[in-house]
This record gives sequence, C-alpha cells and structure tokens, in this order.
Amino acid sequence: MPRPLKFDRSKKLFEIAQKHLVGGVDSPVRAFKGVGGSPLFFVRGKGPYLIDADGNRYIDLVGSWGPLILGQVDTGVLNAVKRALRKGFTFGAPSPLETELAILVKKAYPSIDKVRFVSSGTEATFSAIRLARAATAKKRIIKFDGCYHGHGDSLLVAAGSGPATLGLPDSPGVPEEIASLTLSLPYNDLGAVETAFSKFTDIAAVIVEPIAGNMGLVPPQPGFLQGLRELTRKHNSILIFDEVMTGFRVAFGGTQELYGIKPDLTTLGKILGGGMPVGAYGGKEELMAQIAPEGPVYQAGTLSGNPVAMAAGIATLKRLNDKKIYDDLEEAAAFVEEGIKRAVQKTGIEAVFQRVGSMATLFFSKNPVKNYSEAKECDRKRFAKFFWAMAQRGVYLPPSQYESWFFSTALKRDHLKKIVKSAGESLEEINRAS
Ligand SMILES: *Cc1c(COP(=O)(O)O)cnc(C)c1O
Repeated sequence: MPRPLKFDRSKKLFEIAQKHLVGGVDSPVRAFKGVGGSPLFFVRGKGPYLIDADGNRYIDLVGSWGPLILGQVDTGVLNAVKRALRKGFTFGAPSPLETELAILVKKAYPSIDKVRFVSSGTEATFSAIRLARAATAKKRIIKFDGCYHGHGDSLLVAAGSGPATLGLPDSPGVPEEIASLTLSLPYNDLGAVETAFSKFTDIAAVIVEPIAGNMGLVPPQPGFLQGLRELTRKHNSILIFDEVMTGFRVAFGGTQELYGIKPDLTTLGKILGGGMPVGAYGGKEELMAQIAPEGPVYQAGTLSGNPVAMAAGIATLKRLNDKKIYDDLEEAAAFVEEGIKRAVQKTGIEAVFQRVGSMATLFFSKNPVKNYSEAKECDRKRFAKFFWAMAQRGVYLPPSQYESWFFSTALKRDHLKKIVKSAGESLEEINRAS
C-alpha cells in the first residue's frame, strides 16, 4: 500500500462543526457512526472524483447518495444551472420549466398522468401517503422493514439505513397513535402482506422500495412486486412505488420499466434534481386530481418547482433519455462485480455482492440478503475495516454497510480497474487482520 493518507484537516473541521451543528452534520449517516472514526470533509468534486479538505482525492461511489449519476459537476448540467440562475433564483409563481420537466417525467413513467414537484424525497413520500389516505378514506399503511421513505412520521418505522446505522429501529417524537397505523412487514414476504390484508380492512396504501437500496441493495424476489400489485388492486388499496432512489437509476423509467409493473403512485427525487433539491410524486389522473388546487388534499411549497432546480433536472433527464447510458452503466458495474467476486473467492472471506444495474452492495454475510433481518446479520465491523481500507486507497464508499454504492457515467475503465484492485487489496488486508 502507498503511504497512508492523512485526515488531519477533516478531523479539525469536524471538531469545530460539532460545536455548531448537531453531531457536526446535517444528516446522521454523514457522521460515520457506521464505520467509526471522523467523517471526511469535502471541498470539491470533479467528474468521478471527490477531493477532501486534506487534499486527498477519491473515486466517488456515493454520488451524493444517488443523485449524481453523471458524476460531479457535469458540464451540461452546470451550464443549464448557470443559465437559469442568471434569469432568477426563484419566482414563487409558475415557470415554463416545471411543465418541461413534468413532460420528461411522464415520458419516462407511463403510470404518471400528472406530476407535483416538491423539494425532497421525504416531502414526496409523506405527501403521497396523505393522498392515498384521502383517496381511499382509510388510515393504515403497509411498509417493509428496512425500506426507508424519508423521515415523515408515518414512515419512520423500521426504516433502514439511517436509523439502522444508528441502531434506532424507530424514533422518539413519533406518537404511538401514528406509528400504530403503520404496519412494517418483512421485505419479500408476500404471505405477510396477504395476512395483513385479511386482518385489516382499512389499509390505504402499500409503499415499497421496489428495489430496496436503504438496507443495502436488496432486489425484490420474483413475484413480490406483482403480488403487491394484485393484492392492492383486490383490496382497493393504493400501491406506491417509492422510486426516489431507483428512478432514472436502474433504468430511465425506474423499476417499473425494468419489471413492467405499474403502481398507482410513484415518488421520485435524487437523480430527478441532478444534484439540486427536487422531489416529485405523480400517478393516475383521478388520484392526482385530489391534490390542491384541483382537489381538497392540501400540499404546498415556497420553493417547489424552483427554476434553478428544474433546469438541473431537465438537463440531467435529457441526457439520461438514451438507452446507451444505461447499457454502459450496466457494463461498468458488472465489470466491478466480477472483479470483486473474484477477490472474495480468492480470499475466502464471507461476503456477497448484490447488484441491480448501477446500484450495488458488498454484504459481509455468508448468504445472499433478501430482507432486513438477514441484512442485520452482516459483519459490520468487517465492513468498517473494508471502508477505511478502501478510503486509504482512494476509493470513497458509502460509510455504512446498509447503503448502496452508486456508479456514475464519469467512471471510465481506469477508475473501474482501480476500484477492483483496491477492493482486492482491502479484502486481503482485512483477511490478514482477522
Ligand atoms: C433518499 C430516499 C428518500 C428520502 O429522500 P430525501 O430527499 O433524502 O428526503 C425517500 N425514499 C427513498 C427510497 C430514498 O432512497
């Protein structure tokens, strides 16, 4: 291994930040509780790279937790943002950009007739839940253990990566009365959903990460999503695909394009904003017509449809509307998968690489992971060692076993080779250490 990287400046910045920001961060996973040590502070991004405060350069496999599918500071998106900024930061009134982005979204998601833009994934999901409850006049919702749908009260129950990394299954401050209306069931367990529907007649919606990415990458088992579609239809319940992470990621049209299943409502975010804060929810005409001002279900936002954010989204989606991009991403991620699987075999370490398109997780687990309770069996100490070994070699992974790695189009052959080589060395290093 080359000479060890120093993180002195990051450490110092974290000490100062902790005096002024809660835990020194604005989102818990950034505090590195999942891997120990002090978080890296970044000062710059460029294409496939992140540069930290000590001047160390890393290949970025986080992509800001998904949005940066085109890599850091993509020139096309940058220029679109610059053009929009000159014309106004925000109008608080309609602009043509919102319609333009809505048309692109509808093209990608034929299940969506009408769109409402918001400013985060959290807003999109809790608004979709409100709409589902209003439309069905029912209260209860079903979600799945380990699926994260933002931090809205109804959805902070067994909510995966963030809370999992902190070891909190739930959160104080969410009233029992509200949490009791959320049934959290094991992912990939259709039988549990069937039982819930036979027991309760007031289930407004089933919300699911159609490919789970917030307990690490866990694909749906064959028939699971189809089963949810059939059960919700049979019981007059709304099926919500939370594609905040998978939307424009696993395919331009998300999981619903990949597996050919149409939900009633879809929530989007992350890539949709091209790195700016944007979320959206959309679905069938008659459902969306219940939202104000067409209908009585209230939902609003001062900065919703912000022109700068819309411009970033439009520039990103126009680029992604090209099958070749997804073919290339698949090829790049498959190359890394093969390399890492070879290294796992060579070292004999118990680890399983799970992947769908450009999302993946290396689970330090003996067997494939199909749900949250299996994810929790992983050797998190090993993951932490692996994370730091990779960082030392200039590869930045999500600092938690329960997160997905995200590949970007900025990663070229040399970067991919470096990821594979670094992973091989890191696995050998942690194997020697244990
Ligand atoms: C990230 C994420 C959210 C929350 O989005 P924010 O923009 O962080 O509020 C919701 N659902 C899923 C599936 C996500 O991955």
